[in-house]
Amino acid sequence: MTRIVQKFGGTSVADVDRIKNAALKVKAAVDRGDQVVVVVSAMAGVTNSLVDLTQKMGPLPDAREYDAVVSTGEQVNAGLMALALQALGIQARSWMGWQIAIQTDGVHGKARITGIDTQELDHRLNGGEVAVVAGFQGMGPRSRITTLGRGGSDLTAVALAGALGADRCDIYTDVDGVYTTDPRIVPKARKLNKVTYEEMLEMASLGSKVLQTRSVELAMNHKVRVQVLSSFSDVPGTFIVSEDEVVEKQIVSGISHSRDEAKITLLRVADRPGVAAKIFGPLSDASVNVDMIVQNVSEDGKATDLTFTVGRADLDAAVKVLTDNRNDIGYERLTSDRAVAKVSVVGVGMRSHAGVAQRMFQALAEKGINIQVISTSEIKISVLVAEDYTELAVRALHTAYGLDAE
Ligand code: ASP
Ligand code: MG
Repeated sequence: MTRIVQKFGGTSVADVDRIKNAALKVKAAVDRGDQVVVVVSAMAGVTNSLVDLTQKMGPLPDAREYDAVVSTGEQVNAGLMALALQALGIQARSWMGWQIAIQTDGVHGKARITGIDTQELDHRLNGGEVAVVAGFQGMGPRSRITTLGRGGSDLTAVALAGALGADRCDIYTDVDGVYTTDPRIVPKARKLNKVTYEEMLEMASLGSKVLQTRSVELAMNHKVRVQVLSSFSDVPGTFIVSEDEVVEKQIVSGISHSRDEAKITLLRVADRPGVAAKIFGPLSDASVNVDMIVQNVSEDGKATDLTFTVGRADLDAAVKVLTDNRNDIGYERLTSDRAVAKVSVVGVGMRSHAGVAQRMFQALAEKGINIQVISTSEIKISVLVAEDYTELAVRALHTAYGLDAE
């Protein structure tokens, strides 16, 4: 007996017809004899409208009531999906997060799942019923409704697959898999049959929007087999698997990019112990996430320049914190630039190959693209470039690493 989780994203359940179409995918699995848990997102755009509504009530909505409002899109779709399945003659029942219960901590708006009660669902699945679960929501302390962060239905699906011991978690979306890069930028992008958890994790956090980052992390930690596929076609998608399942390891599997970046430079910062702590301490206190950092050695042993990046939405907050702390930190001038983008190459094969970075720098040089900041991990190299060059850089790198489709 195969047990699967099928998750349908907002575009796959954007209206009644699409919900009916998604229900046919569920029916196909039921007809094969699978036990099926369906996880649904809200209709595309609905969560955004709900967020807007809460903001119309005042600038900083109470987080508990924010969750009470924004979680409702999934409730509607869970009920509608159960109805669509029943219309196809399938025994189906909807479940809200609190009814299962999917227990979470009390961090409203981006709660973490702390436990899932599986007994009742297990029982129903074994009895041949399809469970339709509202994604994105859980139950926090004092039985309050919580939400799991934007894109959180992926997390619901992966967490349920792990807790219920499912054989696979199929994530149905509007693209038919994970590509070597964004096909809207590079028409010659190729669909990957398999990608490792680690690569997917890097790609998700580097700007690829196919899967929520936390859901990839959870899948990796619990070894949940995930497939990303389209609900509008019938072709197999991309499997996200552990490294030992990938026979032919690519040096570079994909090129990611993110425009959600901004750069800050502090000019003539004192070159002595403790200065970095004085800069990044207050930023972290203000919940500003710092990503890439470069600092040069000083020529005169007295002062140096320090450049780093933050999320574009955090730029104003970061500049304010640094300006407020200027005397304490001690720097001459602050400059910032929001017209930057981060372009990254990702691949587990780079662990065992030399010259991967050089190929990147060469390809960018040939196009006359200036590299502003560089950062690396074991399986990725990221560069910061002027935003206007994002697409040129992505295309050049896609070709340079031999990823273009024939
Ligand atoms: N509807 C929620 C959102 O838009 C959750 C999801 O779709 O995964 O963020
Ligand atoms: Mg999504």
